[in-house]
Amino acid sequence: MKKLYIKTFGCQMNEADSELIAASFKRRNFEITQNLKEADVAVLNTCTVRQLAEDKAISMIGRLRKWKLLKPSRKIIVAGCAVEKLGNKDILSRFPFVNLTIGAKSINKFDDALNNIVGKAKKPQKQKPTPEASLFNSPITAYITVTRGCSLKCSYCIVPAVRGEAEHIAPDEIIKEVKVKIKNGAKEMVLLGQTVNSYSSQYKGKKINFADLLKLISKIDGVKRIRFMSPHPLFFNESFFKLFKKDTKIARHIHLPAQSGSDRILKLMRRGYTKKQYLDIIGKLRLADKDTAISTDFIVGYPGETEKDFNETLKLAKAGNFNFAFCFKYSPRTDEDCKSKNLIPKEILKKRLDILLKTIKLNSKEIFNSRIGKMAEVLIEDNNYGRSSKNFKVKIDKLFEPGKLLKAKIVKNEKNTLHGKVVK
Ligand code: SAM
Ligand code: SF4
Repeated sequence: MKKLYIKTFGCQMNEADSELIAASFKRRNFEITQNLKEADVAVLNTCTVRQLAEDKAISMIGRLRKWKLLKPSRKIIVAGCAVEKLGNKDILSRFPFVNLTIGAKSINKFDDALNNIVGKAKKPQKQKPTPEASLFNSPITAYITVTRGCSLKCSYCIVPAVRGEAEHIAPDEIIKEVKVKIKNGAKEMVLLGQTVNSYSSQYKGKKINFADLLKLISKIDGVKRIRFMSPHPLFFNESFFKLFKKDTKIARHIHLPAQSGSDRILKLMRRGYTKKQYLDIIGKLRLADKDTAISTDFIVGYPGETEKDFNETLKLAKAGNFNFAFCFKYSPRTDEDCKSKNLIPKEILKKRLDILLKTIKLNSKEIFNSRIGKMAEVLIEDNNYGRSSKNFKVKIDKLFEPGKLLKAKIVKNEKNTLHGKVVK
């Protein structure tokens, strides 16, 4: 059997695309390997959201030259967002040993493109390949892409340029995919999309929104839990809050990117909300369930960010009571961004990032400890490990089959793993 090595950079959207890529190879009798040395094909699914991610992918393409020289029949495929940003021609002229480049916008054409590189699939499939198992999660968790691309224009972000305008997948297709994943053993669906809660489509002749989509998925036999990411503060509405309160299959953890706590910077970022509006949404989520876990993304050092602006971000970091946060230094993505006169010096970026990380960590520790003595709904992933609805890793005092949903009382926190005793 031939072997595929696939390296994925970046976000869950890219991970979901890598699963589609892997499914195309499996249809051609390829097996996945984690060991590049034994692979016949290497796929790099690239990211370009920050310069560092792009640089890592590019440097790995360079390193693959030697790998291919050792066995010239080997094939190299470069996919993803960096291909869209740099262009197919640029990558192929810098790295002529690459066999195929295919950008993130063309993921639907990947299966056909593969015919010229490794041959046709044995049994042609009418529909797009569907991943059988997750490459990135436990077998009980499945990614379901519900929206591709993004139609917002946040000033710092390259995603709309490299992934295109938002395109919502039809509900019928989503439902079909959920059923396939359930047949393959998944219990928890992770709905993916940039601004995933802006979902809008037609179902049985009627317009449906994100809350309607959640209702449809929740009703499917075998779905035990639904997660989604990333929602955008602009697209929450009353129908969502009502459903969130009622349907506990919807995980009690929401990842809600804030980016900044300064209204001035949020405006420059074109995020469309203020700190107060952001906190109001958290308030409503916690009104529906009082200790809904919230995590977030922050960017420090947006051009022109003053100490005062940064302090507003620190205030939000405290007021939000976040479980955790991904904190990034601002990374200019276009030539124009790079020329901005207001770029923040590197030392200040580092200093602000360190302070913010420390604040988040402190709060996170308090939240972990506050779980002790409380109940958690745990979905078992492997033997005695699982994840609570609030997205905490929980170690249980007994062994269970993956996919079992149980209630446990949290008895301690050890290095960010909660320990729980099963309650009948
Ligand atoms: N769609 C999501 C949203 O709007 O909240 C975010 C998607 S983006 C791929 C993931 C995160 O990368 C963002 O939330 C932001 O914090 C970060 N990011 C995007 N562009 C960035 C940049 N130019 N510099 C630093 N971080 C950036
Ligand atoms: Fe980028 Fe998210 Fe803004 Fe879209 S909503 S432009 S993906 S940060």
